[in-house]
Amino acid sequence: MTEENNDKIDIKSMNYDEVKEYVKSINEKPFRAKQLYEWIHKNLVLSFDEMTNLSKDFRVKLDKSCTIEGARVIKRQTSADGTSKFLMRLSDGNTVESVLMKYKHGNSVCISTQVGCRMGCRFCASTVGGLIRSLKTSEMLDQIYEIQRITGERVSNVILMGIGEPLDNYDNVVRFIRMLSDENGLNVSQRNITLSTCGLVDRLRKLVDEHLTITIAISLHAPNDELRKEMMPIANKYTIAEIMDACRYYIEKTGRRITFEYSMVEGKNDTKECAMQLVNLLRGMNCHVNLIPLNPVEGRMGKRSKGADIQGFKLVLEKNHINVTIRREMGSDIDAACGQLRNKNKGGKMHEGEF
Ligand code: SAH
Repeated sequence: MTEENNDKIDIKSMNYDEVKEYVKSINEKPFRAKQLYEWIHKNLVLSFDEMTNLSKDFRVKLDKSCTIEGARVIKRQTSADGTSKFLMRLSDGNTVESVLMKYKHGNSVCISTQVGCRMGCRFCASTVGGLIRSLKTSEMLDQIYEIQRITGERVSNVILMGIGEPLDNYDNVVRFIRMLSDENGLNVSQRNITLSTCGLVDRLRKLVDEHLTITIAISLHAPNDELRKEMMPIANKYTIAEIMDACRYYIEKTGRRITFEYSMVEGKNDTKECAMQLVNLLRGMNCHVNLIPLNPVEGRMGKRSKGADIQGFKLVLEKNHINVTIRREMGSDIDAACGQLRNKNKGGKMHEGEF
């Protein structure tokens, strides 16, 4: 798959085998493919001109027919806790967000997979304005490359939990995961990659058959269909029972544990009854529940649950032997809920000089 950008080949979206094919097709020596791939995906250069072990002719040829433009940082906000949020500009002027979280065990980056989103979750900022377009593989890779370039530090964990629904951009996302974990590139272990989805069941089953060893996180947010439909339109398409079946299929096939995300909305899904329903749903399953205190978004659904209710909910799960944690809040002072920074900067596409 070689997507064209301004009539140029998007070579950063090509995997290693495709780069080899391409190099062969333009009559360059086969060993040049590894050099070229490494310049792009290991050394993270921004221009062909920097690829100094390639001949000048080859570099000029590449520059004429290919692009390595993906995403560039145009704004950075750093929180008191060290979390940074980056606004990235894509080559067509659209913007997405990425977040860098620094942990003792390494740097984690949360990336966006689409410009906007069409899933319509009622509490989420990313879906305001709908879906503009899906990201190319190069644009997902570059969110990580840019942050690594800027910080000079290795990114060891990647989460697909920013703007967009990853499984609504299936092919590019699977390609992205394979290229990110390619030993000729950044070689990020698939075990350190987490994909979060609102639960597109058919795609989820297909994903299992890709034989990846990533972690799957399911945005469940409600323990019954009725309540889930009030919060997430996708619940009209897939039932919780169907999602659970697909999750069991995933666990059975991969032996990996599933994470369930549960954003807590005051008076809506944070009652003890809800907690008990959740217990009944997950009992005996190899899983982990992540309770997320809602990040209230202006004009969107709901208030954040009270601390005591979150603790009470957690206790019910714990008493029933369900693994549960409350998500540590990072960067809430910098619009870290998905889509908030992008929305703030909207009202037009951004241009390079504005940074
Ligand atoms: N589309 C994917 C990934 C992006 S959202 C998905 O649905 O999983 C990442 C997580 O943040 C999801 O669990 C999402 O439901 C949750 N989320 C979105 N807006 C939120 C908000 N305002 N407060 C708390 N969690 C939110």
